[in-house]
Amino acid sequence: KVTPSEPEQVVRKYLEELRGAPADEDCIICMEKLASPSGYSDACECKTIKPEAVGQLTQCQHAFHLLCVLAMYANGNKDGSLQCPSCKTIYGEKTGTQPKGKMEVSTFTQSLPGHQDCGTIQIVYSISRGIQGPEHPNPGMPYTARGFPRYCYLPDNEKGRKVLDLLRVAWKRRLIFTVGTSSTTGESNTVVWNEIHHKTEMDTNLSGHGYPDPNYLDNVLAELAAQGVTEACLRQ
Ligand code: NAD
Ligand code: ZN
Ligand code: ZN
Repeated sequence: KVTPSEPEQVVRKYLEELRGAPADEDCIICMEKLASPSGYSDACECKTIKPEAVGQLTQCQHAFHLLCVLAMYANGNKDGSLQCPSCKTIYGEKTGTQPKGKMEVSTFTQSLPGHQDCGTIQIVYSISRGIQGPEHPNPGMPYTARGFPRYCYLPDNEKGRKVLDLLRVAWKRRLIFTVGTSSTTGESNTVVWNEIHHKTEMDTNLSGHGYPDPNYLDNVLAELAAQGVTEACLRQ
C-alpha cells in the first residue's frame, strides 16, 4: 500500500495558486469571500499556506482558499486524492473505508428477468464484524456486519461484465461498503452499502433491489463514475 502524501503536498499537487483572488467570488468551503482570509485560519495550523492564499483546481478550475482545501482533506480519509466540493471532479484515486473481506464471482445459466438472452453473474461479498480503524467514524469501537454473505446479480452479457470489472476496481479501492448507520435498520457502527447500488434479488423484487430494471446497468455505471471508477481504470 502506498504511503499517503503529506496533506500540503496533495493540495499543492492539484491546485494552482492564484496571484489575485477573483474579486466577488465566495469560497464554498468556508463561505467567506475569496478576497478575504480563509474561515479555517484559526482551526488549521499550517506554516507554508497563508490564510489569504487562493488556488484553482487544475482541471475544473474551481477556486477555493488553499487552507480550506487543506482542512477538507485533513477531515477525510487522507488517501492522496481530492474531490472538488463544487463539481465533484476527482483528482487522483479516490478510496473508501470498506472493512476487509472477500468478493467472489461465479456464473450460472439461469437468466434474470429482463435479460432472457444470457446467463447470470453472481457476486458474493463476505465481511465479518470487527474493530473500527482510524478511517472509520468511531475508531477503536466494534462494528457489526449484518446479512453477510450478501449475494448480488448481474446479467452475464457485455455490459454486465463491464460493470463486474468496474466493481472489482471499486472493491480494491474499498468503495463498495463503508462503516456507518444503516438507513434501513437505523443501526449505527455497522457495515452498509456505499452509494454503488447492487441487485440483491434475482427472481423476486421484494426489497426494490431486484430485476427487472432496464436502467440498472446505466445507473450503476454512473454511480461508479461518481466514485472515480470508469473504463479508463480498466486500461491502466
Ligand atoms: P442501508 O440501508 O444503509 O442503505 C444503503 C444503500 O443500500 C441505499 O442506497 C439503499 O437503497 C441500498 N439498499 C438497501 N437495502 C438493500 C438491499 N436489500 N439490497 C441492495 N441494496 C440495498 O444499507 P445496508 O444496511 O447495508 O442494507 C440494508 C439492509 O439490507 C441491511 O439490514 C442488510 O442486512 C440487509 N441486507 C441483507 C441481505 C441478506 O442477504 N440477508 C443482503 C443485502 C442487504
Ligand atoms: Zn474558504
Ligand atoms: Zn470543480
